[in-house]
Parts: sequence; structure tokens; C-alpha cells
Amino acid sequence: MAFVLRGGRTWDGTGEEAREGDLAVDGRIAALDGGSGENIDISGCTVVPGLIEAHAHLCFNGATDWRQVYDADSPTTMALRMAGNGRAMLEAGITTVRDLGAPTAVSIDVRDAFANGLAAGPDLLVAGAPVTTTGGHCHFMGGEADGELEVRRAVRDRVKAGCDWIKIMATGGNMTRGTNTLAAQFTVPELRACIEEAHRLRKRVAAHCHGTAGIRVAVEAGVDMLEHCSFTGEGRIDFDPAIVDQIAAKGIAVSPTVSIGWRRWADDGLRKARADALKAMFAKDCKVIMSTDCGIPGVPHTALGAALDVLAEYTGISRAHALRLATSRAAELLDLPDRGVIAVGKRADLLVVEGDPLADLLSLERVRLVVKDGEVVFRR
Ligand SMILES: [Zn+2]
Repeated sequence: MAFVLRGGRTWDGTGEEAREGDLAVDGRIAALDGGSGENIDISGCTVVPGLIEAHAHLCFNGATDWRQVYDADSPTTMALRMAGNGRAMLEAGITTVRDLGAPTAVSIDVRDAFANGLAAGPDLLVAGAPVTTTGGHCHFMGGEADGELEVRRAVRDRVKAGCDWIKIMATGGNMTRGTNTLAAQFTVPELRACIEEAHRLRKRVAAHCHGTAGIRVAVEAGVDMLEHCSFTGEGRIDFDPAIVDQIAAKGIAVSPTVSIGWRRWADDGLRKARADALKAMFAKDCKVIMSTDCGIPGVPHTALGAALDVLAEYTGISRAHALRLATSRAAELLDLPDRGVIAVGKRADLLVVEGDPLADLLSLERVRLVVKDGEVVFRR
């Protein structure tokens, strides 16, 4: 149904400022200066493009008992949990989500249920079960593969099943006991086999990596996107500017998983070191996309706006710059040219919030209205 958002301001996803104008929606974005249809008064509010979360886990509950809950879930319960988390994200104005780890079949069913209206949720891109080594990070999701042949087969399996992205665990992770977060899990030839096979099938590869040694291997292999990229060393951040030079030169995207969890770290030095690594990437014009890793303990699915506030505060980038990383820049880096900006003809994914997010990013949490693909899906 056609409608016009009247009396508010619009930030189109690209510049530094919002402008006045009545935004008309008729399936797609129809006009930026008025039109016909139901009038919706949004005085005192700002319209921004629907937010994009580039790294989520809908199957996790965001709490410290996540593993017991995960292990106890039947596939049906997990699907319901994912649907519930997806709905909460949609109502927070997060209209596109890339899920980077859940069992493959459930991920695809939930994505399709959101797409065909069986359940309310964001537009979902899924990786299914991350490709990992035997006993490696998140092996319990069902993605173990060792050696080039098994890695190739794992990629083929996921594409056959209908996954949108390939996720590979280039290092261990803190959430999986018995893995090594610092060391590379796969060799360069194994990662190259993954990338080659994914690219042949027109998919891209996101590599989870924390340890600097693992980041080095992932960059050498030439993955498309680095997840976390935290430069973790033994008891400290082990930042290597030469790797950032290569990330920039190769055009590899970085999804740094910044979250409100940063505020709870007792160690100021850690926060500063992580922020400094990100600043170095901004300085080299690396392709950074916003992501939070929501679903892991302490990171709620709906806290993307609050995470943007953390990002801007600790790296010193402007609020508009931070917001671009979750809208226009995110759409560009995820190959979604139909969204991320508010322009005539674009997909109408919109978040209407009270106040001005360019003055206070936390106003992103004061949701008035959410539009997904031309439909008002939430209204407060
Ligand atoms: Zn993750």
C-alpha cells in the first residue's frame, strides 16, 4: 500500500546530513518530496535506510548458557528460536541480516520463511554451517572438513543446499573449547581450494579469524572478507600494519564485529588496541562493514545501533560514517545494490526513529516505524 512519511527528516545513507522532505513509498521508494497515499505523521523523527547486520547468529541466545541451549534445541526449536530473534531484529529496524553460522538446513528454512511471509523477519543471507576443521571452531554446527578435497566438497554442499555465502573458520575461537584462537586452522592451499570453488559457483568467502597468524594466512589465500580481524596475540593485541597494507591492496573487506560488549571490557588497553587497529584500516581506506556478532554471550540481536555508537566513540569516525557502514557501504560490500540508500526506485527498507541519529546514534534504539520491502512491518 502506498504511504507518505510526513513531517520528518531523511538521511539517505550517503552524506553527512539529513534533509527535510516527505518520503513517498509505493512498493519501492517513489519520491523524496511528497506523493499520494496514506499519510503517516513522523514529526520529530528521522528516516534512515533499514539497517544491515553483516554478522549475526540467529541460533544463539546471547547469554552465557548459549551452548547448553544450543545443544538442547531440536531443529524445530532452533528454527523457532531463529524466527524469534529475526523478528526482534526486524522490529529494531534491522531489515537485512547475514547469518554467519547455524546448521545449514535450518538456516535456509528460516531464510525462506522470512522471504515468503511465513514468519516476520529480515531479509536473510545465510552461510549455513561454517566450514571448519575436525574439532575446530563451531564444529558442533556440522561443518567439519579436512584437506583440500573435503573443503571443496563442503563448499559444493552448501551451494547445492542454497547458501548465499561461504563461511570458513580460519582460526579457532573462544567459544569452542579445545581450539586455538591464535593459530591458523587451515593451510593456504585449503583456503585457496575453498575460495576457488566458491568463486566458481559465484559465491564469496567470509573467513573468521582472530589470531594474527591466522589473519596472515587468510589474507595470503585471498578471502573476500575477514570476520573479527582482531589481531589477537598471546595475552595482547599483536597488530601488524603490513597485513593492513595487504588487506587494502587486495581489496579484502573487513567485518570487525564491534559490539556493546566492548563497553564491559575491564581492560582499557585492549579496547584502545582494537580501536587503533580499526583506525589503521580506516586510514588505509580498507573496505570496512559494520557487524556485531550478535547472538554470542552479551551481544543482543537488537543492539546494532548501540554498537554503532561504540564504533564512532572509540575510533573517532563521524556518526554518519559509522551509519554508512551499516547501510550504503554494507549494501555495497554484500552485493545488494537495491538497498542501503534512500533514492527513488530503490527497495523501500526504512527505519524511522525519534530524534536525530546523526546527533546521537542511540536514537536508533527509539524505533517509531519499520518498513521492509515497501510494507510497514512495525509501528510504535
Ligand atoms: Zn560469529
